[in-house]
This record gives sequence, C-alpha cells and structure tokens, in this order.
Amino acid sequence: MANSKYEYVKAFEQPDILLPNTWIVIRIDGRGFHKFSAKYAFAKPNDRRALDLMNAAAKAVMSELPDIVIAYGVSDEYSKLVTTIASTFTAYFVHLWRDYFPDLQLSPPLPSFDGRAVMYPSVQNLRDYMSWRQVDCHINNLYNTTFWALVQSGGMEAKDAEKELAGTVSSDKNEILFSRFKINYNNEPEIYKKGSVAFRDYELVEPSSASEMVEEDSAKTTEQLELSKTQQEKDRKRRAKARITIQHVDVIKDEFWERRPWLLS
Ligand code: ATP
Ligand code: ATP
Ligand code: MG
Ligand code: MG
Ligand code: MG
Ligand code: MG
Ligand code: MG
Repeated sequence: MANSKYEYVKAFEQPDILLPNTWIVIRIDGRGFHKFSAKYAFAKPNDRRALDLMNAAAKAVMSELPDIVIAYGVSDEYSKLVTTIASTFTAYFVHLWRDYFPDLQLSPPLPSFDGRAVMYPSVQNLRDYMSWRQVDCHINNLYNTTFWALVQSGGMEAKDAEKELAGTVSSDKNEILFSRFKINYNNEPEIYKKGSVAFRDYELVEPSSASEMVEEDSAKTTEQLELSKTQQEKDRKRRAKARITIQHVDVIKDEFWERRPWLLS
C-alpha cells in the first residue's frame, strides 16, 4: 500500500484535536427513535425495557472504555472518541436487545446512534451541562406523563391533549395529574423523573467531611500535565477495575459531587 499515487488522500484526514485539560462530553442520541419506538411498540411515555437496555449498553461501554468518568470522556482525538463511543454503544444496544425484548426480533432498519463532542473548560461548566440534561429530563417527563394520562386514561385525542397542555406550567400539570387521574407525580419512578447516571463507584465520602475534600478547579501547566502521566496510568487501571453503578439521583445539587470527589478531580 505504501507510496502509491493514491496515498495523497491520507492527507485529507484532519487530526480533530480537542483541547487538553477540558471536560469532554460525548452526547449520543438514537437516530430516528421516534419511529423506532413506534415500530417496537414501546410503552408510552416511558418504556422501562428500553431504558434498562440503554443503561445496560452504557454500562458495557464504560467497562470497555475506562477513560469515561461518568458517561463522559477525557481524551485528545475527538473524531476517534466520538466514533468509538457511538459505535461501541450501538454494538451493545443490538447485542443486549434480546435480554430486554425477548419476544421482539430486531430487523432493518437497525438502531444506530449519533455522537457529538463538546468541550467544557471548567467543572462548573460540566456540572451545568449535567444539570441542564437533568432539568430537561424532568420537564419532558412531566409533560409526557400528563400528555399520556390525558390520552390513555382520559380518552383524549393527541391533538386535544396537546392543546390542553399548551401554556401550562409545572404546577398545572401536577394538578391535572392529581385531580383527574389521582397520580401524584412525586411518586412516579425515579428513573423517569431523574434519568440515569452511570459512574464508577468507589467508597462514598461521609457528607460531613465531603466539602473539605473538593479541591479548587485550578488550571494545570503543560509540565504538570506531563508529570502526572504515571498517575494517570495508575488511575486508568484503577478505573478499569471499579464497579460501575447506575443510579437515578439528583446531580444538580452539590451533594452528589461532594460525596464522590473522585469523579471531578
Ligand atoms: P433524531 O434522529 O433526530 O434523534 P428521534 O426520532 O430519535 O430523531 P429524539 O428527539 O431523539 O428524536 O426523540 C427520541 C424519541 O424516541 C422520543 O420522542 C420518544 O418518542 C422515543 N423514545 C425513546 N426512548 C423511549 C422509551 N424508553 N420509551 C418510550 N419512548 C421512547
Ligand atoms: P485502534 O483501536 O487504534 O484502531 P487496532 O488494534 O484496531 O487499534 P489498527 O491499526 O486499526 O489497530 O489495526 C487493525 C489490526 O487488526 C491489524 O493490524 C490486524 O492485526 C487486525 N485485523 C483487522 N482485521 C483483520 C482481519 N480480517 N484478519 C486478520 N487480522 C485483522
Ligand atoms: Mg433524543
Ligand atoms: Mg435528536
Ligand atoms: Mg434521537
Ligand atoms: Mg486502523
Ligand atoms: Mg483499528
């Protein structure tokens, strides 16, 4: 293959360098899952099997790629990172499908996921990103729960339910759920209300001493980054061994992060 007249095309490969010392978030998203969920008759608004399958695939990806801290990566080459994560996730999603949908066989068009990389320079930015996703989860789920209650239990047409909900705020939706359907939104499953956080579990820090352990988010010099290479390798091995857990907890408040200082330091 070497030195053929065609080799110049290799030069078209651009490095896609991400900034060092930043938090890299890889967000993956199912392609055309609106249709996909209809094809396999997912329960609305939340199909528990599908969520469990997504979580199992996420967990498998994290076991295979130890650099991922909390379903988010740290590395240098973003196209490789994005493609590796998106394709590994897709592979596990397909592989694990039978465990969650034993009576439904997958057929083309097969599920796939897109991936995008975003760099966040500070812990605060990263935490705000996580908070943004969790707030989004809550808002969408409250809407969807109310919408599907109106349709499934209230016998409304989809477009009428949509009209009914237009312009309502959270308290209105809670009220509709409670007064018309005896549903207390607070009692809905945490996995629907809060989503799923996958992370490596070490020993929890006691809440009292937790705040002292959170270090200031300081920028490191290139030299410091070089010096910490061996430490990084050690950390990587430790991460590869750690148990991965999936929890449906609040990641907006400080407590989650303060009790798990290894995640963001
Ligand atoms: P795109 O390819 O642009 O991402 P999409 O059809 O996947 O298009 P999204 O905005 O990603 O659109 O929305 C995903 C859709 O998949 C949801 O709106 C919902 O209808 C469906 N869906 C995904 N997971 C579940 C689930 N666990 N239970 C029920 N429905 C689900
Ligand atoms: P990376 O994750 O960085 O891509 P890699 O281990 O996949 O690392 P590559 O440079 O991509 O390394 O090389 C792929 C290697 O996989 C080849 O060197 C070869 O050893 C092996 N390989 C791939 N496909 C085949 C095949 N069909 N038959 C035999 N060996 C193969
Ligand atoms: Mg989506
Ligand atoms: Mg989308
Ligand atoms: Mg999608
Ligand atoms: Mg290769
Ligand atoms: Mg390869």
